[in-house]
Amino acid sequence: MSRPVSTSVNAEMIARIQAERRAIQQRLTPLGHGSVGRGPSLTSGDNTPTSEVMEAAQEAMATDISLASREVLIARLKALEQVEEKIRQGTYGVCDVCGGQIPPGRLEAVPEATRCLACAERESVTA
Ligand SMILES: [Zn+2]
Repeated sequence: MSRPVSTSVNAEMIARIQAERRAIQQRLTPLGHGSVGRGPSLTSGDNTPTSEVMEAAQEAMATDISLASREVLIARLKALEQVEEKIRQGTYGVCDVCGGQIPPGRLEAVPEATRCLACAERESVTA
């Protein structure tokens, strides 16, 4: 039973991406629909009559995070989903624009990178 090395590396990447997606989703959840989750640490079992207070606190937190940063989180979430798809298809680490190899160091720093540094820079200058 010999597994190719790349498989375990990819599995590791997917695990890392999924963990990151979960973290982002947790940050997004209280913003959108307040009813989705229980509070992370405050809940002491059953619904207490003070849940209204907690909801208010959650809303206060929600307004604390600006709409702009929420958009950033959602964009990141989508990017991570695309990366996961790429890993599964075996096209991860290939530049979307020029088809070149994205340096491993860049992927390490920016796992959701879909362009090599040159293309990313060119894009950000033009955009
Ligand atoms: Zn490129």
